[in-house]
Amino acid sequence: MKETIKRTPFVFFVILSLVVAISSTYAVYYFIVLQTVGSINNEEVLQHNEQVAVSASSYFDSKLEKQISTLIGIEVAHHNIELDGTTFDDEYYETILNQNEYISSIEILDLSGIVIYSSRENINRQGIDLSSYPIIENADTLHTLYIGGLTYDTTIDTMTLEVVYVGEDIYLLSTISTEYFDLYYSDFKNSFGSKNILILNDKGIVIFDNVKQNHLIQYHYSDYDLIIDKSEENSTFESEIYGENSIVTVAHLENGDWHLWLYEDVDSALSLSQTINSYVAVLFSFVVAIFATIYLVFDYIMIRELSNLGRNLEIVGTGKFEPIQDTMSFKEIIDVRGKFNDMNLQLKDITLKLSNAAYHDNLTGLPTKNKANLDFDKWYESSESISFLYLDISRFSMINDNYGFDVGDYCLKEISAILLTIFDYVYRVEGDEFLCLLKNDDFKSIEVKTDKLYSRLHKGISINDYQYSIPFTMGLSVYPKDGDKFFELMKKSVIAMNESKNLNDGYLTVFRDEYSIQYLRMARIELLIRNAIKNKEIYTVYQPIITIKDRKIRGFEALSRWKNDELGVVNPDEFIPILERIGLINQLDEMVINNAIKLNKYLCDYYKTKFVMSVNLSVTTIMSDRFVTIIEEAIERFSYDPTLLELEITESTIISDFDLITEKMNHLKRRGVKFSEDDFGDGFSSLTYLSRLRLDTLKISKNFLSSILSNLESRVLVQTILELSKRLGFYTIVEGVEDEETLDIFEMFGCDYVQGYLFYKPMQMEKILQLVQKEKE
Ligand code: C2E
Ligand code: CA
Repeated sequence: MKETIKRTPFVFFVILSLVVAISSTYAVYYFIVLQTVGSINNEEVLQHNEQVAVSASSYFDSKLEKQISTLIGIEVAHHNIELDGTTFDDEYYETILNQNEYISSIEILDLSGIVIYSSRENINRQGIDLSSYPIIENADTLHTLYIGGLTYDTTIDTMTLEVVYVGEDIYLLSTISTEYFDLYYSDFKNSFGSKNILILNDKGIVIFDNVKQNHLIQYHYSDYDLIIDKSEENSTFESEIYGENSIVTVAHLENGDWHLWLYEDVDSALSLSQTINSYVAVLFSFVVAIFATIYLVFDYIMIRELSNLGRNLEIVGTGKFEPIQDTMSFKEIIDVRGKFNDMNLQLKDITLKLSNAAYHDNLTGLPTKNKANLDFDKWYESSESISFLYLDISRFSMINDNYGFDVGDYCLKEISAILLTIFDYVYRVEGDEFLCLLKNDDFKSIEVKTDKLYSRLHKGISINDYQYSIPFTMGLSVYPKDGDKFFELMKKSVIAMNESKNLNDGYLTVFRDEYSIQYLRMARIELLIRNAIKNKEIYTVYQPIITIKDRKIRGFEALSRWKNDELGVVNPDEFIPILERIGLINQLDEMVINNAIKLNKYLCDYYKTKFVMSVNLSVTTIMSDRFVTIIEEAIERFSYDPTLLELEITESTIISDFDLITEKMNHLKRRGVKFSEDDFGDGFSSLTYLSRLRLDTLKISKNFLSSILSNLESRVLVQTILELSKRLGFYTIVEGVEDEETLDIFEMFGCDYVQGYLFYKPMQMEKILQLVQKEKE
């Protein structure tokens, strides 16, 4: 239902309301106005007809009354004459006839029906026996007037009515002229043109008929009984008279037991009311038409305005904020247009701000990745290649943590400025991550630019008078080789960049498909490792470190292993960086410290010997407030000799916050804890740092080893390092030694200890116990 209303166009309601308006107006007209006006008029006509009929009937009644009283007077006079013996002569009757203009003849009959006097010219009528004359035959009640039929009286050339009055001694037979009917009617016609009069006696014989003159032929009106029956209920009614639909009023005439029918054609009777009705109808139609027109015009304007507004809203939807032109219209519409235009201006303003916010980074002033997306979409069709160079500043959070956000922000601005000196299109993706788009650059020219960037960032930014070198990693993906969608390409550049994370500072990894697989594996690792420590899936193994001189065990390095049902054995190189990123490395390092101390305590006590236990520490572990406490608590817990604990830290850890770390190191060193620099040779190892650090041991990175056999230069370098470190008072451990040849070289250069598969791989605690047991035997 809602759906239909939603989709129904406004014009439907307009037409519907118009139809309802017109039909309801007509309904009011037909059922109320027409009926009221019509019936009032009918009523008036009927009442009027009734009055006319009554007055006509009383007129005729009184006329007949007069004749009757004259006849009664004659009879009375006769009776008296009989009594006093006088007779009447012709003069007497002539006088009476003259005085009564409608009595056209008088005849006196004795009671046996013999004419004894006749006023008619024909004298011969005296002595005629009229006893069998129908009217005389029927007249049998004393003092009663009987009215007979109409006859044509040639002497006076008019219709006459035969009447008999029964006296005590005589029958008084008289003819009464009906001329007065005509006379009356001619007056009547002048007043009531369309009305007709029909007078009938009680047998239905027409006495007077102004229309058909049927009284001349003794006409019997066939539907007489029907009309009379109808009149018994209501004196005025509608009926057919001579085949015409008429309004009929029936009135009774007392003296002859006659009926007077006043009738009139329905149409002409009601012509007045019909005229009024048609006027009303025309008026109504006119009013409805005017209303309809106004309504339609109004609706037309409203629909036009609404669709206009709709069109403009559509335009706004496309991001164009054009104002609606003001044309003539209703005030309200103009108001709405005004408000619409105001809204447009505000929207324009807000959209501009939003797009600025979406496309521009406030801090650095660089465009955002949304803008990069737009640019890429604009360029890619016309470009041979577009390279996505993704750049992440390593350990940037440390700058924020150590120097505060102001310095962090300053660094980001500086980095942005440096990037802009090298690349044309630089975008800030988020935090310390940037994207550079390079149009049609080949790999060589990209490398030239990234090298330039490396030397520039490595030179560093000056913070608090200290030139802080900015380590970073980069990843590269290229359109169309690696895809043609912006986000796909960006993701691949991020994947490549993540590959660089475990490599040297400033390293650029070019995306390869297998990285995606690794990326998915990393995502899986990240998900599963959260429960790994809790579920004891991560355990500790120990790799013996051997004294080169006597090949005896100097101690062990504790290393972590993770075995997962789904992933199998996961390399620490894979999961340690993830644990560092998700902030769980502290838990692992604490666990390893405790395991390692516990085992070494047992070994040293049991075999009455002194092994050095080395434990790797992540930078976040050292940075944590609890670091010193964790170490001290472990030492306390196992009553452990701190001098048998060597903590391995990397160079990048040390330089991340030199002061803080040296402070913590010094604190622990005072208790006897030893420190070694892990992976020496991987970074930009500077021996000046080393001198300030008061380290105990240097662990020469196994990465260093690969070239040592073949490359004389690196051999000289190693020799120099070993000599220097000896001079600085450090012990040296060489890691990752797998063959005798390498060992020989290190032995020759005076390296103290060796850790490598040549002797032992990292082993589980049980194996270590067996190994020590064997050595001590
Ligand atoms: P690392 O500190 O440099 O540890 C030495 C790595 O070299 C170990 O790898 C060890 O198994 C491997 N190695 C030893 N001898 C040889 C050899 O002759 N040839 C070769 N190819 N490799 C050898 P692993 O155990 O995979 O550890 C990798 C890195 O993970 C470690 O490098 C260390 O930085 C980190 N790590 C391991 N366990 C922990 C831990 O519990 N905490 C922290 N924070 N880091 C850990
Ligand atoms: Ca180590």
